[in-house]
Amino acid sequence: MRYIAIMGIVSLLSSGTAHAQTVVGEKAAVDRFLDQTYPALDALYKDIHSHPELAFAESRTAARLTEEMRALGFEVTEHVGGTGVVAVLRNGPGPTVMVRTELDALPMREMTGLPYASQVQADWNGRQTYVAHSCGHDAHMAIWVGVAHALATLKSGWHGTLVFIGQPAEEAIGGASAMLKDGLFTRFPRPDFGFALHTGPAAYGEVHYRPGVMDANVDDIVITFKGRGGHGAMPQATVDPVLIAARFVVDVQAVISREKDPQDAGVVTIGAIQGGSAGNIIPDQVVVRGTIRDFDTGVRAKLKAGVERVARAEAAMAGAPDPDIAIGGQSADAVINDPALTARIAPIFKAAFGDKAVQDPRPIVASEDYSQFVNAGLTQSLYFQIGVYDPARVAAAAAGGPPLPVNHSPLYAPVPEPTIRTGVEAMTLAVLGVMGKP
Ligand SMILES: [Zn+2]
Ligand SMILES: [Zn+2]
Repeated sequence: MRYIAIMGIVSLLSSGTAHAQTVVGEKAAVDRFLDQTYPALDALYKDIHSHPELAFAESRTAARLTEEMRALGFEVTEHVGGTGVVAVLRNGPGPTVMVRTELDALPMREMTGLPYASQVQADWNGRQTYVAHSCGHDAHMAIWVGVAHALATLKSGWHGTLVFIGQPAEEAIGGASAMLKDGLFTRFPRPDFGFALHTGPAAYGEVHYRPGVMDANVDDIVITFKGRGGHGAMPQATVDPVLIAARFVVDVQAVISREKDPQDAGVVTIGAIQGGSAGNIIPDQVVVRGTIRDFDTGVRAKLKAGVERVARAEAAMAGAPDPDIAIGGQSADAVINDPALTARIAPIFKAAFGDKAVQDPRPIVASEDYSQFVNAGLTQSLYFQIGVYDPARVAAAAAGGPPLPVNHSPLYAPVPEPTIRTGVEAMTLAVLGVMGKP
């Protein structure tokens, strides 16, 4: 018995080593492929970066990806859920694996000063705005095409079906459910496994993951405070919605500091106040927009109720009409990573990236509607992050130096090489990790 047990350990160890060797070999193959193709991915990244498009208006972006994927031999369907793209490659019997990228950019002005910085403007909620890829979705798209190209090139090393999807409107929340409603899981091969990645302000070369909760629940806030407009010199004849909105912005933070258990994570941010036209006119109404993030359904319900109660109370205190309140019109659940799939992929990342493969102790407070795919049945899913900055800069920031621009900062600027290379390596290895092998 003892001998058999020892033999068992020996064979386990040697199969672990063989597995690591396979990963190292696959990574070397991906690297050889990238040495040939990286300049094209860099050009694609910079082209998409300088032509950003807003949620559900990603026509040029979708057309560009369609062209790339058709050239790789994928069967591409456009206009899935609006501007969404679905690209399928069948390569014999085996698992069906979905890889997602987002297509959309943000309504903001890029201030990076990079030679390929965006100068684009577009209409957003009836206003003209600058548009910028300040969340890194442009890098995700270049990586997505790179992974598709790598897997198509290494076709003799795996069996199965690839379903590569380009999702519109991740930032606005809604693109994932639009694709699902348009038959993503019925018109196309239904995925057994799902993967997505996101760039973030860590050191390039690093791959971050965790089992279970990866990011936060999100609910948006749109509140219209109604007053009665009039002359700024005669406030007694008006009900001032600017003052009501200002009080709300301050008082709503007490929901976080006084009502939520301090041990629970949660944030309420008011990011936009819109109202008024001149300094001497009290307007009729003010619109306040914000976001609520948390990791727990109980906390979520408490924060939503608290935000609503404070808004109504502020209006009542000012003798104003009840405000119009929409909370969660754009919402998404936390992204949950399947523990079994995470445990399967983590050793692959470790073998490929060593110490730069990091299991994060805590989830991130960002949110995203990739969770819609998971909740629609794609439970064997892993969503991971890759870093974008020079490790020396990350170390300096950690030591109290200049802070790193985070996603959605006008200064967010991933270093293309090696960020894109690491993304292609990590995602290709993850997909190969679940595919059938010859
Ligand atoms: Zn974003
Ligand atoms: Zn994003």
